[in-house]
Parts: sequence; C-alpha cells; structure tokens
Amino acid sequence: MSDLPRNPAAATLRPESRIVHPPLAGLGGARPMGVPLHQGHLYAFETSEALTASFAGPDGAFVYNRYGNPTVRSLEDAVADLEGGTGALATASGMGAISTVLLALLRSGDHLIAQRSLYGGTFALLADLAQRWGVEVTHVSGSDPDEVAAALRPTTRLLHLETVSNPTTRVTDLPGLIAVAKRAGVLSVVDNTFATPLLCRPIEHGADVVVHSATKYLGGHSDVLAGVAVFADPELHRKVWHHGTELGASADPFAAWLTLRGLQTLALRVRRHCDTALDLASRLAAHPAVDAVHYPGLPDHPDHELARRLLPDGHGGVLAFDLAGGREAARAFTESVRLAALAPSLGGVHTLVVHPASTSHRQLSDEELAAAGIGPGTVRVSVGIEHPEDLWADVEQALAKALVKA
Ligand SMILES: *Cc1c(COP(=O)(O)O)cnc(C)c1O
Repeated sequence: MSDLPRNPAAATLRPESRIVHPPLAGLGGARPMGVPLHQGHLYAFETSEALTASFAGPDGAFVYNRYGNPTVRSLEDAVADLEGGTGALATASGMGAISTVLLALLRSGDHLIAQRSLYGGTFALLADLAQRWGVEVTHVSGSDPDEVAAALRPTTRLLHLETVSNPTTRVTDLPGLIAVAKRAGVLSVVDNTFATPLLCRPIEHGADVVVHSATKYLGGHSDVLAGVAVFADPELHRKVWHHGTELGASADPFAAWLTLRGLQTLALRVRRHCDTALDLASRLAAHPAVDAVHYPGLPDHPDHELARRLLPDGHGGVLAFDLAGGREAARAFTESVRLAALAPSLGGVHTLVVHPASTSHRQLSDEELAAAGIGPGTVRVSVGIEHPEDLWADVEQALAKALVKA
C-alpha cells in the first residue's frame, strides 16, 4: 500500500475502527479528517527524471489521473486495508474492475474456470471473451472442489468466483475451490460485492484478486458508480495497473470521494442490513404466500454450515424468496410494495425488490433458470436500513396482493 498519512493509532485496530480512519492524501503536514477531493487531473514536475519516474507503477508520484490520483489512491488504500491486500486499483465501475483484471491477466488460448451462477455483466463478458478473444471458459457449480480439479487444463490461467451467488444466495466454497487452483498454479479472482470485506475477506482464503462493485455496499447510497480490484501480491497489482492505464477505466476522483464518504459507515450499514435481512427471511418463511426463502442465515439453507464458517459475522443484505403463485404473484408483489422500490441493483440504504426471471436473468431459458434455482415466482430483495417493522408492514401488504393472485 502507498504511504498516505493515516492516524497511526487506528492502523492496527479492528476493521470498524480502521474504516473511519482511512489513509488520506492531504496537503502539507497535517492529517485531514474529512476526505479531501483532489479533482485536478495533472501535476507538474521540477525535473524530467521525476516526471519519468512518476509513470513507473501504481505507487509512483501523481502525474495524470489515468495513472493515479490522491483521492482515488485514498479509496484504493482503504479498500486494500479492509480486504487485507497489498494494494488496489479503483475503477469507473464494478465491470471496469472485472474487465480490467480479466483482460490484463488473460490472453487468447488461455482457459478460465468460472462459477455458473455469475453477475449478468460478468457472464456476458466471459461469453464475449470466449467468442471473440479465444479464451476458453468452463463453468462449475461453486460448491465442489473436485469439479474444479476435473476442469483444470494445462492452459488454465484463472478461477473466477463470487462469494455469494445472485439471486439464490448460494455460498461458494472459497477455501476449497481456491486451494485446488493454487495447487495447479492458477490465479483466483473473487467478486466479493455481496459479502463486503466486513463479512468475508477472500485473500485470507487464498484469493489473488478481490473485485468489488463499489456501486453497491461500499458506496452504499445509490449515488455513485465505482469498482475496486484488490491484490494480494504487488507484482500482480503492478501488472493489472499497467493494463488499466491502457484500458482507461480509471475511477473519477469525485466518484472515489463519494465512495470513501459512504465507506466510512459501512460497518453500521452492514450490521443493520444483516440483522434486518435475517428478520425478514424468518418472517417470510412463515408466510402462506411464500414457498421457500433463500438466505444463508436460515438453518435450512443448503450452505448454512459453510456460511457459518465463511461469513461468521453475518450473512449479508440480499435474500430471495419463491412466491407460491408464480410469475403473476411476483408481479403483484413487486408492483405493490410502497416503502421498498421496484429497482435493480443492491447494497444501498433503500430496500429494493426485483423479479430476476424478467430482469437480471431474462436471457436465460426456462431450463437455465431452473438450473440456477430461479423460479417464475422468485423475488430478490436487497434489504435496506429502514426500520424492520416498517419494512415488514410494507412487505406484508404486498404479500397479501400476491396471495390474491395465487
Ligand atoms: C453490480 C455488480 C457488478 C457490476 O458492477 P457495476 O458497478 O454495475 O459495473 C459486478 N458484480 C456483482 C456481484 C454485482 O452485483
């Protein structure tokens, strides 16, 4: 990580304390408390040697925002610190982080193993890499290390996983799958957007790169699009940073500033998201309009045991449930909520509901939907930080409408 000034007392404390004392780039000797916004994109030098040296790597002097910026670096250091990485690259979006990492580390002829259930944009990117860039892709379930071992080829370069899958909240066996990759010299990339570094730190389980859509929980307020890639190894960081300067998906300073502002309340928000999600999941499970609830915090979730080990401090703010009345009931529910909003995306302070089969997963055939555990009546909820009783009152009145349709 770079050497931005930081409260020395906070550097070794718990994440909840470190997060409100991020390393911040200021001016002069004093340490800033509020996050300074360095919007200027160009820096001048006294000597040509110093100018040349500034292009050398991710920790070089600031010269031009595509290579680095003080506010962006503050965000990078803060997220790298939370994830336990050596450094990070902030990008214009989550997809910017994922595409920069994959394009930097793969070449045509390489083979990649990825989970079958992936964020839609990532799935589309992998399909594109396969069709147009000659990267071979094998999809696996995410729960069986033997399946990864069987998929390995001499050309396998990367394993791409997501900590928690969307929308059915299956928890991936990160330690098991990553161990197989590591033994074969294959790099592991984990999308940790759903878990956040407060609930799971994939680098502790052997991951080489962690990617985030900071648009979701890290920013947390539905007002900024940003991404971050965190690296366990400085050489990998340097390599991806170098390609990043060519691809140009760099984070804008204002977006980094907003993300850092949100990040400082992450611990409070995540606690509330987890508590309310577990409360909502339990109440939904007891409701006659609901066939099944998918939340790793519930004892009957297929990955409950794994989740207790991998996500010991909480199971996140996303859950899904299947309405007995199928598609019509799902439509009635999602159009009847008032406090919650019918909107895609997740991880913000507002509760959002969405019908995956007609939105995020609309490209999937009925068989593919069934294989992904998504039924016609499946509804995903990104649980916000509203009062749990107000939220349940809203959900309950919308469930009543869904029951009429069933
Ligand atoms: C939203 C999301 C992305 C993409 O992030 P953007 O910021 O929208 O580009 C990637 N992965 C996961 C798991 C996401 O939820």
